[in-house]
Amino acid sequence: MSLTQIPDTAQRNEAEECDKADPFVHLRRRFDLPGGLIYLDGNSLGALPRGVAARMGEVIRHEWGDRLIDGWWNGWLDLPHQTGARIAPLIGAPNDSVLAADSTSINLYKLAASALSAQKDRHVILSEVGNFPTDMYIMEGLAKLAGRDISVREVAPDAILDALDDTVALLTLSHIDYRTARMWDMAAINAACHAAGALCLWDLSHSAGAVTVDLTATNADMAVGCGYKFLNGGPGAPAFLYVRPDLQDSLDSPLQGWMGHQDPFAFSEIYKPKPGIGRFACGTPPILGLSALNEALKVFDDIDLPALFAKGQDLCDRFIETVAGTDGLTILSPQDRAVRGSHVAVAHENAEAIMKRLSSQGVIGDFRPPDIMRFGFSPLYCRHVDAHDAAILLRDAVKESEASLQD
Ligand SMILES: *Cc1c(COP(=O)(O)O)cnc(C)c1O
Repeated sequence: MSLTQIPDTAQRNEAEECDKADPFVHLRRRFDLPGGLIYLDGNSLGALPRGVAARMGEVIRHEWGDRLIDGWWNGWLDLPHQTGARIAPLIGAPNDSVLAADSTSINLYKLAASALSAQKDRHVILSEVGNFPTDMYIMEGLAKLAGRDISVREVAPDAILDALDDTVALLTLSHIDYRTARMWDMAAINAACHAAGALCLWDLSHSAGAVTVDLTATNADMAVGCGYKFLNGGPGAPAFLYVRPDLQDSLDSPLQGWMGHQDPFAFSEIYKPKPGIGRFACGTPPILGLSALNEALKVFDDIDLPALFAKGQDLCDRFIETVAGTDGLTILSPQDRAVRGSHVAVAHENAEAIMKRLSSQGVIGDFRPPDIMRFGFSPLYCRHVDAHDAAILLRDAVKESEASLQD
């Protein structure tokens, strides 16, 4: 695939100057990106960090091939914690309070179920209309199996605060909306939740590795998130989960697998959960997937994270400013970067065809039915010139589509 030539304009030159001055521009070289492509789908599947293939070869040949079963006593058993500790600084959590495990869906189930059983006098799981589908499917399935009358209530985002009453056991929200990138005020929601006596479970799938999150400072109860989006852990990478340290030992995982046992290798007949976050582990950890994620996370080592995330916001701003005012195109994401994640969503009635055209021109974003186009800007490997070029190509595609609609 080759990228369509974009005219040299003052605006494009300015974008190139920004890339020259970008203190993070070297990070792009730590990724294996195909040539001739502007990859703006890192919010769906992060790009491949260069170190991962070599690390996988090493793990397979030496750790698995040579060490065989001894691998478990040489780091494998600790890998969910070690990987969690690499994620922790990205979400403002203490290092020993994050576990890399299972998928986001399964982690949602584990934490929501543990919250429900800790709140036996309450029967509502509250969420917002338009939350990510798997999050709601999981809540509905959990309600069916809860063994008591649980109702899942979805209200409009601006009705959440009013709906937080003394029937609510758990509020669960995606910190950043997967479609519009609108961001919740985590501190305000946590405070309202606690005032109402409810627990709060955040889905950080579109936040971790993309925006500043501070679970400790905002007094969050629980969180989960994805390993394969902005964390670049690879397709189906393990997800992560967080529980506030003082809550951990008061909650019980509903999936009492042996890896959450205090002493799995005692093969005891009695289940005794581990103290701390380890009790939320279930079965044998997927060492290959964890090794890839753990290696991928090294890209974030020693980085000024607020500055990195500000770059992502700059890229989104540039993209929005360049496409703004295009006839027929609606910008769905907030203009205010303080309440926006690191992707931009726009709508057009011909969205699907426009995305196909962009893809043939080397710009990879994604289409969400019925009419939404999403463009994700990972500050690790996206450049200002990419944001500029993609916006110009989108603008041209929309103009052409509008002209044909009028024919
Ligand atoms: C991507 C995403 C998921 C994915 O869940 P999986 O269990 O990994 O399939 C869940 N929730 C949100 C909000 C997401 O963006």
